[in-house]
Amino acid sequence: MEGLIIKNISNDYTVKTNNDIYVCKARGKFKKDKITPLVGDYVTFDEENNYIMKIHKRKNYLIRPSVANIDQALVVTSVKSPNLDTNLLDKLLTIISYNNIEPIICFTKLDLLSPNEKKEIDNYIKYYKKIGYIVVTNSNKDNFKDLFKNKITVLTGQSGAGKSSLLNLLNPNLQLKTNEISKSLNRGKHTTRHTELYELFNGFIVDTPGFSNVDFHNMSKYDIRDNMKEIFTNLHNCKYRDCMHIKEDGCAVKEKVNTGEIILSRYNNYKQFISITEKTKK
Ligand code: ZN
Repeated sequence: MEGLIIKNISNDYTVKTNNDIYVCKARGKFKKDKITPLVGDYVTFDEENNYIMKIHKRKNYLIRPSVANIDQALVVTSVKSPNLDTNLLDKLLTIISYNNIEPIICFTKLDLLSPNEKKEIDNYIKYYKKIGYIVVTNSNKDNFKDLFKNKITVLTGQSGAGKSSLLNLLNPNLQLKTNEISKSLNRGKHTTRHTELYELFNGFIVDTPGFSNVDFHNMSKYDIRDNMKEIFTNLHNCKYRDCMHIKEDGCAVKEKVNTGEIILSRYNNYKQFISITEKTKK
């Protein structure tokens, strides 16, 4: 039988099929081959003795949280207290995209903005939409219904970004559940691994404590260049095919920064990310 692993506690894997739920163990062979089944894995299992026999090919996976086959990541981003941090936002968008996951921006706390601040934030919203990111706000739960359908979505965002109130808006039961898990993890007594996909709007979501600590560890400067949407799409307009958009002549990206078509915060973050990956190069 085939199914999707939706929950993992220690060696117990909860597998969901179209009609049922099974709790399975992993075959010993996986351990020998140093393969661990992950939440999000599509698996073939033996329903007689509840053993996972085969893990289907993964589209992608993350280590923390340990989840496979993620379709998209919702980057929950506060625009006020704490103020919009475009550096952290652009960093997360770039790393998520490098991991072959589609990032979605979810701006929160727009109701705390003054009229002038709102104008400024509206410009950012327009800009991120223009360059091709999906942008939503937490003003309405209906914004998420089509977004989550048939997808595995990872929720990320710095603390204080309003992730709990977003979960509460989407489904109050869900927030209780995820709170219990993070509490039991914080207690630190049990080092039991617990990852779980929650069903929501005909899709699945998974919460990620600590995703904001991610860094560029294995990424090269080319990975940065090719995972920022408007930088990537403008490369073919540059004079040199391998243009890094820093010092080169005939650079379409620099030209668009000058005309304001590419906003300065994005370009400055781009240059900073490049210099970080250059410094940490092995
Ligand atoms: Zn260029």
